[in-house]
Amino acid sequence: MIKTSTFQIQIVCPGCNSYHAVSGIVDFDTCQNCGKSINVRSILNERMFGMMDRVKYINGFLAGSIEQMGGTGAYKLLYTSMPPECEECRVLLDESMLIKAIEENKPVVCPSCNHKMPVRKADAEIKEFHPKAVGVINDSHGKDDNEKNTDKTEMFVFKCMTCGAGLELTNDTKRTTKCNYCDNENYLPDSIWTKLHPNKEVQPLFLMLDLVENDIKETIDYFLRVTAIRVYSKHFENFICSYFEKPFVNESLLIWLKCFLSAKNDKSGFNMDFEKLHKFFYDNLILGLENHPVELKMTVAEYGYNIPVVIQEKLSTDNNDSVRCAFAKNGNLDKNIYKKLQQDKNEDVAAEAKKHKTGFLKSLFG
Ligand SMILES: [Zn+2]
Ligand SMILES: [Zn+2]
Ligand SMILES: [Zn+2]
Repeated sequence: MIKTSTFQIQIVCPGCNSYHAVSGIVDFDTCQNCGKSINVRSILNERMFGMMDRVKYINGFLAGSIEQMGGTGAYKLLYTSMPPECEECRVLLDESMLIKAIEENKPVVCPSCNHKMPVRKADAEIKEFHPKAVGVINDSHGKDDNEKNTDKTEMFVFKCMTCGAGLELTNDTKRTTKCNYCDNENYLPDSIWTKLHPNKEVQPLFLMLDLVENDIKETIDYFLRVTAIRVYSKHFENFICSYFEKPFVNESLLIWLKCFLSAKNDKSGFNMDFEKLHKFFYDNLILGLENHPVELKMTVAEYGYNIPVVIQEKLSTDNNDSVRCAFAKNGNLDKNIYKKLQQDKNEDVAAEAKKHKTGFLKSLFG
């Protein structure tokens, strides 16, 4: 199943100390400010995410920023697992369309504004970053200008500092450039250089993955067990917030929810607090519950193990039979809810609910 992970990456250039927008998953990139080569690979593959398992993190539905400040290897990363959007007009892009573009090796063309984004099939560099990557959309490293919408070569004239002759500069000109008349070298001042190389905006890179259910399950297990990364519970919350602002449904998201909502903490107290995260999820879910997508409600109904009673009551009277039927399969509901579901007007719902013991037998064996 397809999952999209979106990155915006900036790395501090060791040459000039300014933030450089990384244009792709590459070994080396050229600083747009000073022209120095930046070792992107060592930061992407070794330092980014610190001690966290990068692949596990990327397989999760999370959102957040990670910033490593100071020293060599300083970087800023923005991450989200929300569905891919056109970087220009923000329209939602269909994931299967993106996969098709990667397979055919054709640029993605936004159906709404015609903005073009280059595609790159997963090669060794990308596979090292994530072994289950299919490709990257908008990786523009080494692409010429025709493939991006960034247009025209601009030209400037600069007076040689020795003889005053006019030198024609384009954005291909080297920072140290020789005068054609007097042969002296000119080091282009910042004001000219930044005109030739305007600071690129940090573009989103869409990493397209092909995952199986177990990849997602392992991610949840990882976050349940690893104690040192408790701080990332904020990234669970960030994603939940952005999700409820713009709900969507796809296969990988539903598997994620299933694993997330059925995850049980061990009680050591040092691990990430999933009960708190569940509560955060349910607090968001309850607003406008009736209007959420049926598939979302079915997943919550069947797999949530600590669903608040108010939500249990609402789900037990949901208009959709499939939602109530999924709910009746849940083994962790309030006793009174089973009793209610056993009386359901839909036979399948009632039959499912009757599989759970209630009353006297439940208190003996339950
Ligand atoms: Zn630089
Ligand atoms: Zn667009
Ligand atoms: Zn000159």
